[in-house]
Amino acid sequence: MALVFEMRKVVLGIETSCDETAVAVVTSDREILSHHIYSQIETHKKYGGVVPEIAAREHLDRLDHLIKEAVFDANLSYNDLSAVAATSGPGLIGGVMIGMMAGKTISATYGKPFIAVNHLAAHVLTPRLTEDIKFPYLALLVSGGHTQFLLVRDVNDMVELGTTIDDALGEAFDKTAKMMGLPYPGGPYIEKLATQCKNPALALESFPLPKPLYKKQGCDFSFSGLKTAISRYIQAVPDGAQGEGISQKDACNLAYAFQNTIVAVLKDRLKNAIMMARQQSKTEITQMVIVGGVAANRAIYDGIKEMALLSDLECVTPPLSLCTDNGAMIAWAGIEQLQQGISHSLSFPARPRWPLSNLSQNNAQNISLGIYK
Ligand code: AMP
Ligand code: MG
Repeated sequence: MALVFEMRKVVLGIETSCDETAVAVVTSDREILSHHIYSQIETHKKYGGVVPEIAAREHLDRLDHLIKEAVFDANLSYNDLSAVAATSGPGLIGGVMIGMMAGKTISATYGKPFIAVNHLAAHVLTPRLTEDIKFPYLALLVSGGHTQFLLVRDVNDMVELGTTIDDALGEAFDKTAKMMGLPYPGGPYIEKLATQCKNPALALESFPLPKPLYKKQGCDFSFSGLKTAISRYIQAVPDGAQGEGISQKDACNLAYAFQNTIVAVLKDRLKNAIMMARQQSKTEITQMVIVGGVAANRAIYDGIKEMALLSDLECVTPPLSLCTDNGAMIAWAGIEQLQQGISHSLSFPARPRWPLSNLSQNNAQNISLGIYK
């Protein structure tokens, strides 16, 4: 068995940076041998958002069991692993520390390399696990905590082209949903209401919303003004059947107007991002990827894809189960590092903030794989 695994790398990936406790085993020939996720959404729902302290406790309760299950389901023993990868930031510090400690313990016990994975880089590299994506490419990361355009030149060479100056896009969906009396996380509920809108023209006329940074230079985002405008509408509409005093019809129209505005802003920002990426890349860019939970939104995906095609970019998104936080993306990012001869010291710290532009600097803390042989 050991001989077989010398050929292909097999990496255990651990993700605990937010409210998903997730573990997977992935191979360098792009096979997901096991994939386990425990979502804490039900626990956090009653608070309307993720409570960091509670998230950390849940990770602690669940992680050991999930790791055992993932290794068992992959039909392996710990000795068969090539390395252990764990999210080391950015994220909620309690959870990140728990995942890293578990990963480091397995690494130290079985003499396997430890790979500290940047959670954002893992999201952005995931399409290479499921699709034929080649460097360099443009990435749009849209999740509950992050909204960024990135030029991905290599595993450890990513350029942040634009980011949000206030809320993340998923956060804007969630906060809007909360104001409308919808459950957490609200993104899917807003999308559902928007698709039920009977008269899109009337919706846009009834709820004209600002388009922050629209037609401005660069590809940064801002969503807080949008949120304020929605809050004013909700306070102004007459009481109705829908939870917090907004009628079903108004809710559908408002959700449609919100989603439509987001799509327009994203398309506008994408146009500039493509230009910037092409200016900053020595090699031609022909592909883009959308990653993060908000990629599940059909109107957003279709809008981005349409704009990408106009610029001769193939647009790809991984399957939804790999778009939101998961262990396979961490294992895959670990494999990408391992294939470049990179692993990290067991003293690698948990980083609540870890910008992608610093990725290569952090490899100053690399240690040679040879030390484990
Ligand atoms: P992540 O942070 O990558 O785990 O993704 C979770 C975020 O994606 C939350 O903010 C969700 O509200 C958002 N989300 C999930 N599905 C949708 C959807 N269909 N439309 C808009 N946002 C969504
Ligand atoms: Mg995420």
